[in-house]
Amino acid sequence: MPLANGGEITLKGISGSPGICIGQAYLVDQEGIDIVEKYYIHKDRLQKEIKRFKTAVKKSRDELEATIADIPDNLRQHVDILETHKALYKDKMLYGKTIDMIKKDKINAEWALKKIVSDIKTMFENISEPYLKSRVTDIAHVSDGILRNLVGAEDVDISEIDKRVVLIAHDLSPADTSRIQLKRVKGFTTDLGGRTSHTAIIARTLNIPSVVGLDNITGIVKSDDIIIVDGQAGVIIIHPTDETIIHYQKLKSQYEEYRQIITRDSQRPAETADGHRLKIMANIELPEEVKTIVTHGGEGIGLYRTEFLYLSKNRFPEEEELFNNYRDVATAMAPGSVTIRTLDINGDKAISDSSDSDEQNPALGLRAIRFCLSRPDVFKVQLRAILRAAAFGNIKLLFPMISGYKEVIDAKKILEEASFELEKEGINFNKNIEVGIMIEIPSAVVIADTLAEIVDFFSIGTNDLTQYTMAIDRGNKKVANLFNPLHPAVIRMVKRVVDVGKEKGIDVIMCGEMAGVPFNIPVLLGIGPDALSMNPHSIPGVKKIISQLKVEECQEFVMEILEMPSVEEITALMEKRYGSIFSSIKYT
Ligand code: PEP
Ligand code: MG
Repeated sequence: MPLANGGEITLKGISGSPGICIGQAYLVDQEGIDIVEKYYIHKDRLQKEIKRFKTAVKKSRDELEATIADIPDNLRQHVDILETHKALYKDKMLYGKTIDMIKKDKINAEWALKKIVSDIKTMFENISEPYLKSRVTDIAHVSDGILRNLVGAEDVDISEIDKRVVLIAHDLSPADTSRIQLKRVKGFTTDLGGRTSHTAIIARTLNIPSVVGLDNITGIVKSDDIIIVDGQAGVIIIHPTDETIIHYQKLKSQYEEYRQIITRDSQRPAETADGHRLKIMANIELPEEVKTIVTHGGEGIGLYRTEFLYLSKNRFPEEEELFNNYRDVATAMAPGSVTIRTLDINGDKAISDSSDSDEQNPALGLRAIRFCLSRPDVFKVQLRAILRAAAFGNIKLLFPMISGYKEVIDAKKILEEASFELEKEGINFNKNIEVGIMIEIPSAVVIADTLAEIVDFFSIGTNDLTQYTMAIDRGNKKVANLFNPLHPAVIRMVKRVVDVGKEKGIDVIMCGEMAGVPFNIPVLLGIGPDALSMNPHSIPGVKKIISQLKVEECQEFVMEILEMPSVEEITALMEKRYGSIFSSIKYT
């Protein structure tokens, strides 16, 4: 429900990318293409109607080609998905069948196309293979383009927008997002999308403030409305009062000034007030983020989420593509290490079609390592690529979502097969790669001592560990207020895993969102993992907090909170004890 204050409306969505912008709204979505009329075509005019359809297809394809040609270098990795869209324009299922239907049913092209797309959607509903299912989204994007040209609806060319606006869209396709001109667009908001959707990922690559997942922003905002986007808070304000605008202008300049200072300071190592050093690393989704890690003082990549490379395609990538990608990241990050996590798809991840998957509980389903073990062919391609890239840089391997011993054994067996094959083929690779597992399922915490015997390191994923421990869907807005890694159960689990690591002599790194929130740092310092890994933009704030804390005090503090029964009490004590230090961090 929007919150209204006088004429202004505040909406809460999901933070897509941090930063604040204030400007005029620009509604991107085209109207009219949903209202498609059905009418019959006389048989003498059928050829003309088919020609009209073909012309619209050609026009849409030409437009897409122009978009591809204009894609800036820093977004070239998204070209593949657009190339797939290009191929779809001549796809038999879409193109051929629409023409057949125009002929057979003697109906107008718009109606035939809509009907064919709807049939395709129904057909794909019964398919569980995620990559095939993801074609539906592509088909919808492509058919929208054709429909727009058929009905003559005006297509808003994002690259032509020249008024420093805030884009408002139902969804931004990869093509749309890649066409955003930073000089002309201040920020954007969308009805759909989550933090890990393509749109949010590209927004972070572009460093453009955005709020996604607003449900119905396109139904509320009109072009030219004044709007404030607070990407950090995941909040937008429509029709802000003069007072609010002044307030946010101030916040914006404070934010920018603060970021400049803190980013400059982040080049220093993370050292506590009593002289302990802690390794601070970064989580990335795209190779381009390596630059941000370096400018924000990261010492390596603690978590490379590799699924996004798969998500940008409608097929599993080839070994060579993966190898090049991993080698480039390792080379760019050298001498820092790069922990490559194997494919973690399905569940709560950013697969656009996961919601129509036939799994009742996708987060408990065929996700991550389970998927990979069920598709050794796909898994082995990735493992070979990682092993090969590891010959060129400091690469470690990480298996996600481990729930038991046998999964690790099975995964390592496929890794051994991959090594054996590479050896036999005489291909250069690193035999001695370190192998770690994500500890993000409670069963893995309980048997951490056993698991520690067969791996080189642990990486604690508090996002999933909190989700699975507390039975709170991490992506469900309705229970988001209950999701808290400071729950005593989660804190105790994290402590146990770190203690096991110390006892067994293996490194423990923390890579969930918990590690990037300054408020959590006293607890984490007290628990004592070997490294923290986080969104590169969070590094400066975390380093600043670390520099003001003393390890011994934090250890005592952890002993106190381990006795506490609830999040509320823990949080209250944290505020009391560290409130003055937290107030030195204005933004996260
Ligand atoms: C986690 O679960 O905490 C984690 C780091 O992995 P992801 O967010 O990719 O599931
Ligand atoms: Mg996880």
